[in-house]
Amino acid sequence: MVRLVLFDIDGTLLHTGGAGRKAFREALATAFGIPNGTEGIEFAGRTDTGLVRQIFQRHGIEHSTGNQQHFFDAYYFWLDHILSHNEGNHCPFIWDFLRQLSEQPKAPTLGLLTGNVRLGAEIKLRHFNLWQEFHTGGFGDDSEDRNLVAKAARDRGCRFLGKELRGEEILVVGDTPLDVACAKAIGARSLAVATGASSVSDLLVHTPTWAVEHLGKITAADVCAPLAI
Ligand SMILES: [Mg+2]
Repeated sequence: MVRLVLFDIDGTLLHTGGAGRKAFREALATAFGIPNGTEGIEFAGRTDTGLVRQIFQRHGIEHSTGNQQHFFDAYYFWLDHILSHNEGNHCPFIWDFLRQLSEQPKAPTLGLLTGNVRLGAEIKLRHFNLWQEFHTGGFGDDSEDRNLVAKAARDRGCRFLGKELRGEEILVVGDTPLDVACAKAIGARSLAVATGASSVSDLLVHTPTWAVEHLGKITAADVCAPLAI
């Protein structure tokens, strides 16, 4: 049985209309005087901290703690501002799926597994009234490497539950091949959803446990039950 479900955010729980990318661009412009500094950068499935390292390198900005803090201070301001002026919405059937999870005979704990830094994740999820649904997680502050973020999310989830979980007791829900890869890195089940950057056929190439068009195409009972051998 699944005891811990870890959700990616962008393209899995919600669409922000590109608020994260726009906030990165504005933060670079206002904090470092670099216009259009994110052009040509691939954001999907990446960690914020890994993106900052790449962008700093591209523009010759020293990757110091002070510069990172300076960047993220500007980023939080712009993210909040842009979300309040941007079109965005929840991914299809997300509330229904969360309700089904809560109604399982032994409801799993819900957490996050995201490349967003923690405060960025909180700003996005509060905007969409979702933050209070989650009780633990791993974030872009834990590591630039998404597979290590997955390990942090697993370890934190185990501490939250007060027990060591086997891989098959953890489910990762995400919209990119990188989400499937980080589920595998911790031996977890993976539910890949084609509500973000990748199609079902793109996701199937990476052999998730399940791949669906959206969360209305599968039930919480399907993904939480013991796996057939
Ligand atoms: Mg995503």
